[in-house]
Amino acid sequence: MKTIKDIILWGRNFLKNKGVESFSLDTDLIISSILGREKSFLYAHPEFEPSNEQIGRIKKLITLRGHRFPVSYLLNSKEFYGLEFYIERGVFTPRPETEILVSNLLDTINAEYKNRNVKMFEIGLGSGAISVVVGLNAVNATIYGCDVSKKAISISKKNILRYNLGDRVHIIRSFDFDAVKEASFDIIVSNPPYLSLNDYLSAEKEVRKEPRKALIARDRGLFLIKKIIREGRRFLKNQRGFIFIEIGDGQGEELKNYSLKFGLEAEIIKDYADKERVLKISVGY
Ligand code: GLN
Repeated sequence: MKTIKDIILWGRNFLKNKGVESFSLDTDLIISSILGREKSFLYAHPEFEPSNEQIGRIKKLITLRGHRFPVSYLLNSKEFYGLEFYIERGVFTPRPETEILVSNLLDTINAEYKNRNVKMFEIGLGSGAISVVVGLNAVNATIYGCDVSKKAISISKKNILRYNLGDRVHIIRSFDFDAVKEASFDIIVSNPPYLSLNDYLSAEKEVRKEPRKALIARDRGLFLIKKIIREGRRFLKNQRGFIFIEIGDGQGEELKNYSLKFGLEAEIIKDYADKERVLKISVGY
């Protein structure tokens, strides 16, 4: 195994046999990342011979990919909303579906908070992807994000500093609202854990390499979502604002009814795969 072509063929075949669906893309991503070149370089120079050291590193990562480690953990990187985020094992990898939540949130900020400051609270920062994207796209936003995980705190900090948002995105170590003292927010947002234990056990093997705390919740996945619905309004300034929560497909109806019990109107937003994905609660609007 000497040339790029040899390595591509070996890697793709190896991952295909391991049942990795995205075997071609993942092989090529790993090779291009180790060589520090664009993917197009691989196809334009199939006869190029990487160094032995590089081949060794590529083989190691492809082998780990075969053990179903997500690419984000192997390459310490994931793209979300057109930006690159630093990721490592122990932190939740941002998902493309969550871009739906972010784009709806940004639309609301543009529509309702034009030319004025908006204060947002995020429950469960993870890598910081949501807060960073909102911070960059809404310059009028001041953001407070919390997480219980030490790892999430350190990784989100890295991503926040990388995008120079240190003065507008603040990190709090807490579970949810416990560190919040006053009702001062306009928007509350969260991509909480919402899988039931069964969902989790039947999820892709890659998902099970991710932190369970970021994925699984009691009460069939609904525990934290319901808590945010129940308690969120108390932290909105003048009991007015918006709550955006990512949800799982099939959870919408129950959560809509649950919201109604507290006098809250919830709207369900679907993703591109036509799955229920976001719960938007407008309070006092
Ligand atoms: N949609 C995610 C998954 O299936 C779950 C995300 C979450 O619990 N917040 O991996």
